[in-house]
Amino acid sequence: MPTTKLNIEKIRADFPILNETIYGKPLVYLDNGATTQKPKQVIDAVSQYYNEYNSNVHRGVHFLSQKATDAEEAARRKVQHFINAKHEYEVIFTRGTTESINLVAYSFCKQYVKPGDEIIVSAMEHHSNIVPWQIACEDRGATLRVIPIDENGELMLDEFDKLLNDKTRIVAVTWVSNTLGTVNPIRQIIEMAHAKGAKVLVDAAQAIQHTHVDVRALDADFLVFSGHKIYAPTGIGVLYGKEALLNEMPPYQGGGSMIKQVTFAKTTWADLPFKFEAGTPHVSGIIGLGKALDYMNEIGLDTIFDAEHELLEYAEAKLSTISGLRFIGNPKERAGTLSFLINDIHPFDLGEILDKQGIAVRTGHHCCQPIMEHYQIPGTVRASFSFYNTKEEVDALVKGIERGAAMLG
Ligand code: PMP
Repeated sequence: MPTTKLNIEKIRADFPILNETIYGKPLVYLDNGATTQKPKQVIDAVSQYYNEYNSNVHRGVHFLSQKATDAEEAARRKVQHFINAKHEYEVIFTRGTTESINLVAYSFCKQYVKPGDEIIVSAMEHHSNIVPWQIACEDRGATLRVIPIDENGELMLDEFDKLLNDKTRIVAVTWVSNTLGTVNPIRQIIEMAHAKGAKVLVDAAQAIQHTHVDVRALDADFLVFSGHKIYAPTGIGVLYGKEALLNEMPPYQGGGSMIKQVTFAKTTWADLPFKFEAGTPHVSGIIGLGKALDYMNEIGLDTIFDAEHELLEYAEAKLSTISGLRFIGNPKERAGTLSFLINDIHPFDLGEILDKQGIAVRTGHHCCQPIMEHYQIPGTVRASFSFYNTKEEVDALVKGIERGAAMLG
C-alpha cells in the first residue's frame, strides 16, 4: 500500500478547529465540499491585516493603504501563478464562484448573445451554474441546452456533440461534480466547444483544491472558484477570463474603483482587472486567499493530491463493505466526494445520527436538484474529503453509518 509523504500530525496541528469536540466526541469533519477548514497561517494572515495594516486599497497615498494595496496585488499574482494565467489582470476578485458565474452570464451574454443563440450547461451542475444562465437566456432571448448524464454520473459526450452548433455561444460546465465527485474530461469538452466556435466557462469550485489547474494548458476562456473551498476565508472568489474577452465585456457593476473618469456626459471604465471590481474589495479575504495558496504550495500540490487520492480510494473500498450501501454515481474518475444511500433510509435521518457521533457530512440535494431528479432520489449522504482527513476518520464514518443503519432499521 502506498504511503503518502504527508506529515499528517503536523498538518492537522495547523487547523485549530480539528481539535474541537462535538457532543463530547472528536470532530470528524467530512463536509469539505461545502467549505474547507482554515489553517492558522491563513487565520493569522487575516488577523495580522486587521491588527497591523487595515486600510482601504488603491485609494490612499498613506503608508497603510499602500501596504494593504501591495498585499492585495501580491495575492492576485499568487492566484495568477497558481492557475498559470498569462497576466495578473486576468484574475478578477469576486465574492465567490456564484458571483463569478453571474458576472460572466451577465456581461458575456450582454456582449455576445443575441436572440436565437444557445447556451449549454450540464445536468450535473450546481444551481449556481444553472440559474444565472437561465436568467441570461431569458434576458437575451437565447435557449438553454443541457448535456445529459448517464447512470454512472458521467457526461454523455456524444449527446454534447449533438447539442453543439453554430448558434452555441458558451458552454458552462463543472470540472468536478460537487455531488457525484465525477471528474469531467474538461480539456476534451473545451476542445469540442472551441471546434464549434463556442467559449467555455469552467466551474472549478470542486477542482481547484484537488487537481492541478492550468488555464493556459486547458485553453479555458473563463474559470471560476471560491476561496472558502481552498482553505481561504468565505466571501472571496476568483474569475479568470482571457484578456481579449474581458476587454470586450461591459462592466457587471458600477461604482468606485471601476472607472477612469466620471462625468455626467460620459463615464469611462478602468482597465482590467478593476473594470470588474466595483467598490471596496474584500481585502482581508484576498490576503487570506493568497496565504492559503502559499500554504498549499509549501506542502506541495502533488503531495496533497496523492494523499487525497489514496484516502478517497480507501474510503470507497471501506464504504463498499457496508451492507445495503449504494453509491450514487460510479464515475471512472472521482475527486474529493462520495455520495451514497443505505437501503431506503432517508439521508437526513442518517446525517442526524452521524452528527450525534461528531461526524459532519452533508445530506440533501447539494444544490443539484436535477441530479436528484435524474436518479429519482430525495437526496444523498455526501462525505467529502480533504488532505487533513485520516483513515481513522474514514473508519469512524463507517462505524457511524453501521450504527445508524442498525438504529434506523
Ligand atoms: N459550483 C460548485 C461545483 C460548487 O460545489 C459550489 C459550492 N458548493 C458552487 C458552484 C457555489 O460556490 P459558492 O457558494 O462558494 O459561490
